[in-house]
Amino acid sequence: MPALVNRDACDACAGRERQECIFNCPYDAIRLAGGKAEVDGDRCDECKICIEVCPVRAIVLE
Ligand code: SF4
Ligand code: SF4
Repeated sequence: MPALVNRDACDACAGRERQECIFNCPYDAIRLAGGKAEVDGDRCDECKICIEVCPVRAIVLE
């Protein structure tokens, strides 16, 4: 299953210069939608990089 963002936990990397998950995803699978990160499940390769770089641990693999 692809990565999933907990929208309640994601703060869009407030206070940082960039959204870490979007910047680091090798498959360009994450976008901002309504001020929160959102994973395109068709592009996600389940590499888990976004899970490791999210400063608030907002992403999980289902
Ligand atoms: S698990 Fe990997 S491919 Fe999937 S959204 Fe996260 S960084 Fe991108
Ligand atoms: S790294 Fe975490 S807090 Fe930052 S945009 Fe992605 S999901 Fe949201």
